[in-house]
Amino acid sequence: MHDATNRGAEAASWIDRLAKISEPGPGVTRMPFSEEHRRVLPLLTELMQAAGLDVTMDAAGTLIGRRDGPAGAPVLLMGSHQDSVREGGAYDGIMGIVLPALALGALRERPLPFAVELLAFADEEGARFPTALMGPRALAGSFDMAALDLTDADGISLRRAMTDFGLDPDALPGLRRDPAGIMGWIECHIEQGPVLEAEGEALGVVTAICGIERHSARLTGEAAHAGTVPMALRRDALAGAAELVTAVEARARATEGLLATVGALRVQPGVVNAVPGAVDLTVEIRAPADALREAAGAELTAEARRIAGARGLGLEMSRTYAQPATPCDPGLQDALEAAIRATGGAGRRLASGATHDSSAMADLCPVAMLFLACRDGISHNPAEYCPPEVMGRAVAALVEFLARLAPRRG
Ligand SMILES: [Zn+2]
Repeated sequence: MHDATNRGAEAASWIDRLAKISEPGPGVTRMPFSEEHRRVLPLLTELMQAAGLDVTMDAAGTLIGRRDGPAGAPVLLMGSHQDSVREGGAYDGIMGIVLPALALGALRERPLPFAVELLAFADEEGARFPTALMGPRALAGSFDMAALDLTDADGISLRRAMTDFGLDPDALPGLRRDPAGIMGWIECHIEQGPVLEAEGEALGVVTAICGIERHSARLTGEAAHAGTVPMALRRDALAGAAELVTAVEARARATEGLLATVGALRVQPGVVNAVPGAVDLTVEIRAPADALREAAGAELTAEARRIAGARGLGLEMSRTYAQPATPCDPGLQDALEAAIRATGGAGRRLASGATHDSSAMADLCPVAMLFLACRDGISHNPAEYCPPEVMGRAVAALVEFLARLAPRRG
C-alpha cells in the first residue's frame, strides 16, 4: 500500500499542475482548441514522456503517447479528454490521462506483449461547440464532417478553430483506424455520482453507459380566472402535469437501474391568479439496458394519455431523442475487476449515467471503464474532488491490469 500512497500523491500533484491551466475564474475552464488547450499540451507531453511514451498529435487535436509492443502486436488504447465544462472540476477527463500515464511509467522497464497508446482527446464535453467526441469519432470513422461548420458563441467555426490551432480538418477521415489491430479501450473517470463513496469502495467497474431518451409533452387545459371558476369545472393543465411528474418519479424509483427526470416545465399563463391553461414539460429517461428504457418510455407515454383523458386535457407527446446504451466488454470488465480485487477492492460493478469518450470509442473496439469514487458525488463543479488514496489505488489496479492482460485482437 506504500506504493499506492506515493502514486496517489504523484497523481494529485499532476492534477494540481494541470488544473492551473485554465481560464480565470472558479474551478477549471479549458475549452478545446483554445489558448488553455495549447498551454496544457507541453505538460501532458511531459507526463507522457515521463512514462516512456513517444508523443504525437493527430489531426483531431488528440495528443497520443505510444509505447510499442513486439512486431505485429495489437494495441491497447487508454485515455480520456483534456477539456472541461465552464467552471468545472480538476478531475473530470484529465485524470483519465494522468492515471494510465503513471501506471505505464511504473511498467516502463517491463516488456508487455502488446503496444499501448494513451489518448488525450480535445473535446468531450461539447462546452464550446454544439458537437463533441470528435477525437474518438474520427478514430471510429463516425465523425460527421458537416459538424466542422458549427460555430461557438463568438461565431468561430470548428473548422476555423482547428485551423488556427495548427490542425488540418480535411485530414480527419484519414484518422480512421482498422479495428483488427485494436485490443480495446480503457477509460478511467471519476464516478460523478455518490455510489462508490457511500459503499466505501475506491474503484468500480462500469457495466454499461446508459442509453438516453427524451420526450417533450404539452398538456392543454383551459386558462381561467382563479377566483370565479369552481374547482369541479376546471381543466387545470398544471395539476395534470404534477400527476405526470410524480408518475415519472414513481416509475423510475420502482425499477432497478432506471433514471427518469422531468427537468424543464413551463406554465402558461404562469400568473398567480389564473388557472394554468397549458404546460410544456420534458421527460428524460436513462437506463443501462435499451429494453428497460424503451418500456419505461412507452409506459409513461400511456400514463400521460390516461392522466390527460381523466382530466379532460389535451396531450401532445413525442420522443425527441434516443441514444442506445453502450455495453462494456465482459472480458475487459472481468480483467478490471480481477485487478481491483488483487489490489484490495471489491470490484463493485455499476452503470454510468453520463456519456463519455467510451461511448464513441465503442464504435471502434471493445470498451471498459474504471470509475473512481469522488467526494459527495459532485462533478462539473469547482468542488469536484477525488482523494489521492483513491487515485493511488487506481494506478495500482491499472498496473495489475496491464501486467496480467493477454494480447487479443478486436
Ligand atoms: Zn468526462
